[in-house]
Amino acid sequence: MPPEMQLCVEKHVKYIQSLDTRKDELEYWLTEHLRLNGLYWGLTALHLLGHPEALPRAAVLEFVFSCLHQSGGFGAAPGHDAHMLYTVSGVQILATLDAFDDLEAHMEGGRLKIGQYIASLQNTETGTFAGDEWGEQDTRFLYGALNALSLMDLLFLVDLENAVSHVQSCANFDGAYGTSPGAESHSGQVFTCVGALTIAGRRDLVDEEKLGVWLSERQLKNGGLNGRPEKKEDVCYSWWVMSSLAMLDKLHWIDSEKLTSFILQCQDPELGGLADRPGDAVDVFHTIFGIAGLSLLKYPGLIEVDPV
Ligand SMILES: [Zn+2]
Repeated sequence: MPPEMQLCVEKHVKYIQSLDTRKDELEYWLTEHLRLNGLYWGLTALHLLGHPEALPRAAVLEFVFSCLHQSGGFGAAPGHDAHMLYTVSGVQILATLDAFDDLEAHMEGGRLKIGQYIASLQNTETGTFAGDEWGEQDTRFLYGALNALSLMDLLFLVDLENAVSHVQSCANFDGAYGTSPGAESHSGQVFTCVGALTIAGRRDLVDEEKLGVWLSERQLKNGGLNGRPEKKEDVCYSWWVMSSLAMLDKLHWIDSEKLTSFILQCQDPELGGLADRPGDAVDVFHTIFGIAGLSLLKYPGLIEVDPV
């Protein structure tokens, strides 16, 4: 394999391991509001890279439990308010580490409590979900709720039918989806809406041909993918767009060689990590979504990811 097509696996593992030891850097504290998400992204990247043991399980669980409130919701870091997005990351980490028994040992009835916290954020009239008690609503929260509940076998706690009809009301004439009814199509929302419908067993509601065309048009001449028309390419769309295509069984509708080469150009080959586009500063968010994109592209040596 030519060097420019080489994924720097060891460097990325080291980069992810280093994230928690940079407490003397300003950026560490500026990103505290994302700590639990960041841990999930890093841990998932390590699993895809085939190095799941690179972050010690016991220490990860100790941190996760320190973010868990009595209400069943998780905060971003100890002492932060509970929110849907951190709760989903908490559940995803527990599922990744096969740690639901550890959860019960830490908090009796913990799985059900978390499920009830998530279910309490649904507006059963409209089917939508809020991120927290303050009520901002977004299909991201609806997808997160269904994802976490399905990982815990607790989907029955919510009104699935109403959730599905809300997702359907966010579909646009181009076959794609927006954050709310009538909002502009965006590939991040396509992922959340198609993902929610897939979990709910209602992918039959997706206009697969139209949406497949819209998604494949996200690829630009340089191989990268953008989030919506007229926007610049960005590594994270390798996940939002490609996972959506994977759910529609249309991964072959984009040029995988060009996308692979674009993602690899976003690596920092010396210090590890991936950036949004070549030459920019790396972060853990673009690192996981670039690696997950490569996994969907069946890059040699990576663990294959499940798009939902
Ligand atoms: Zn991005």
